[in-house]
Amino acid sequence: MIVFSAFVPHSPVIIPEVGKENLDKLSDTIKAYQTLEHEIYSSKPDTIIVISPHAEQRDESFTINQAPNFKINFKEFGDLVTNMQFTNDIGFGYQVKELCEDYFPVMMTAQENLDYGTGVPLFYLTQHLPDVKVVVIGYSNLSPEEHFKFGQIIRKQINLAGKRIAVVASGDLSHKLQEDSPAGYSERAQEFDQKIIKLINNKKIDDIIHLDPELIKEVSPCGHRSLLILLGIMEQLNFTPQQLSYQAPFGIGYLVENFEIK
Ligand SMILES: [Zn+2]
Repeated sequence: MIVFSAFVPHSPVIIPEVGKENLDKLSDTIKAYQTLEHEIYSSKPDTIIVISPHAEQRDESFTINQAPNFKINFKEFGDLVTNMQFTNDIGFGYQVKELCEDYFPVMMTAQENLDYGTGVPLFYLTQHLPDVKVVVIGYSNLSPEEHFKFGQIIRKQINLAGKRIAVVASGDLSHKLQEDSPAGYSERAQEFDQKIIKLINNKKIDDIIHLDPELIKEVSPCGHRSLLILLGIMEQLNFTPQQLSYQAPFGIGYLVENFEIK
């Protein structure tokens, strides 16, 4: 059963040893993450599924990381202190691949060191869950509908698995909100972030699937397809979206949204 579900950003700046004096700029995001940490801890998950835009990617297939053990560090961002380890719920990943066989390819990868799109959420959400198992999923260039469908298949396996499962979609919103955004500026970026936040808060799943592809291309959010997989997983559940924070101090939109399960 699904016991916890959230959409979260993955700025490495919120890792204390990375962000240091910049942590303050994302204090709302950090507080929101701490709220989620309480929620996930009390939901007692056996396994956390993380959908990451920065996991190993293949154009025409989804990926599931089947390395037996995972390591998390933020050395590439100058943090030589943080080190975490998790065990992979390998059986779960294998079963999802089997179930997908008739629909689209799923590629097994074997990356022991996890990407920051997975590492940042796990850093916050597993503070009191050191023994939780982890499944890491990467999205593809397939259509939005296929991402949603992939989520529905993962949901099937969650039902079959008989475990308590938390699902976390990792992703940032528009990357072009300010003149000094690392990816450049788009005047449509604000429009996109406001629109998608409203659609999420109002559970307009169909509208999220059918967002204008030109707009998405223009503002390059890495979180849209993670969100689609999450919504495919959640679709038939009774849940209430709850916005915990939205910040964009560096020109990239960071939304923390809890999908509270009834
Ligand atoms: Zn990203």
